[in-house]
Amino acid sequence: MKIVVCIRQGLDGEINPFDACAYETALNIPGAEIILLSMGPDSVKNFLLPLTRLGATKAVLLSSKAFAGADTLATAYTLSRAIERLKPDLIFCGRQTLVGDTAQVGPMLSVYANTNLITNVMSVDEVSDEIVCTTRTMGVQSAKLPALITVERINTLRRPSIRSKVGSVEVWSAEDIGADATKCGLAGSPTRVLKTYENTSGKRKCRFISLEELKETVSASLEKESQKVAVQTENTHRLSKVVIMGEAPRIFAQQISDDITVLPLTNEEDIVLRLKELEPNAVLWASDSKSKELAARVSAIMNLGLCADCTALETDGEQMIMYRPALSGSIIAKIISLTKPAMATVRTESNNIKDVVVAMGYGAKDSLNAVKTLAKKLNAMTVATRKMVDNGYLPYDMQVGLTGKTVSPPVYITVGVSGAVHHIVGMERSGTVIAINPDKDAPIFDYADYGILATAEELDKLL
Ligand SMILES: Cc1cc2nc3c(=O)[nH]c(=O)nc-3n(C[C@H](O)[C@H](O)[C@H](O)COP(=O)(O)OP(=O)(O)OC[C@H]3O[C@@H](n4cnc5c(N)ncnc54)[C@H](O)[C@@H]3O)c2cc1C
Repeated sequence: MKIVVCIRQGLDGEINPFDACAYETALNIPGAEIILLSMGPDSVKNFLLPLTRLGATKAVLLSSKAFAGADTLATAYTLSRAIERLKPDLIFCGRQTLVGDTAQVGPMLSVYANTNLITNVMSVDEVSDEIVCTTRTMGVQSAKLPALITVERINTLRRPSIRSKVGSVEVWSAEDIGADATKCGLAGSPTRVLKTYENTSGKRKCRFISLEELKETVSASLEKESQKVAVQTENTHRLSKVVIMGEAPRIFAQQISDDITVLPLTNEEDIVLRLKELEPNAVLWASDSKSKELAARVSAIMNLGLCADCTALETDGEQMIMYRPALSGSIIAKIISLTKPAMATVRTESNNIKDVVVAMGYGAKDSLNAVKTLAKKLNAMTVATRKMVDNGYLPYDMQVGLTGKTVSPPVYITVGVSGAVHHIVGMERSGTVIAINPDKDAPIFDYADYGILATAEELDKLL
């Protein structure tokens, strides 16, 4: 059983955490021959070599000037050329990187490498001539080999033992993998970043109130938000022929077009056929896992650029201009696609959100019962920051933010949330934001309409 594990070095120099989980999952498969595969500059050799001590027989680094500046499509193509040479039974990828955050490379690679695909894997349950996995979103799934799986953050990568031996790192060039240089790196990347801006969206002027004023402020805010009339964006230009996959992206399509066709989320063959017939200028997909996976596969089948997780769209009448958070949300990138139709997944809202949402941050970890009781009294639903999820206090499906869900209820209350930009991007479109935190310098107050300087423990007074 030969398994290739795709690994990327993060900006912090460490292994991308999702890839670490993919590697550990491969190491747990008895008798597997594991090969690490990475693309990057020559210096990545020094990052890969110590990783071979954990059990991989060797690592392959794809390194060439031709590979630089690759977007997800060009990356998937380049990796697929090495897969062609390595001929594995299984390919393991992390669900996404923390740099790009797109979750596109795995599904795209499965198209170019012509393998079956299972995404969002929580555990590998059986491997024979097929692989059986429990997934986060679709229950138990199986696929015949060769197959590619994308792995969630489910485990911790082991440490090397003192006696472990280092393997080898082979560096392969474009020629070594027979890659078509026009499909690699910047030349092969259909998406182009035109400009980047500091992400200041979501900032508000905060008025501090007392804890005792919380309930009446929530009631008054609900009243005020119910009277707000939705503001239409002024977009002087309109784009013709925009396709939305399902109803969820409609609100984004309306920002740029009056000529919108809805297609059902069926399967990739049907969707490709319909898109070829319709010849749209733009195609928008929702941000749930099924839409993202289909979008990535359709993009690879049709060789179209795909911009992930857009938060706003514009048009000059000719093309779709896409805005998305980048570099973990600290900047906003303005992106176009050189291929037509331009395709984007848009950050659609989670369904079934109540009017009041209470977010529990790490500062509330010792008072979860008090926060939950308060939420019940306010008829609110509860959500979490990633730090709460990563530390096992609350499940992933509660996570709001860059790598979680997006919500915009009329009232969003945070308890013990610091206000990291990664959390803010998931809630910044909420109506009124009320932040409870004892630290008056916490960044969350820059994004709140009302601030309460109090600890989570003090919520007991209100119960
Ligand atoms: C690529 C990437 C993606 C990410 N995606 C997400 C995401 O989707 N969602 C997300 O939330 N984060 C995400 N993060 C993590 C994010 O950067 C922050 O680390 C995280 O949001 C912080 O969580 P927190 O506010 O709960 O904890 P902390 O930053 O630890 O803040 C805790 C706060 O609690 C306050 N506090 C302390 N004691 C008390 C008390 N007794 N009562 C009340 N308050 C108290 C403190 O003053 C502090 O402000 C991501 C990070 C990266 C790098």
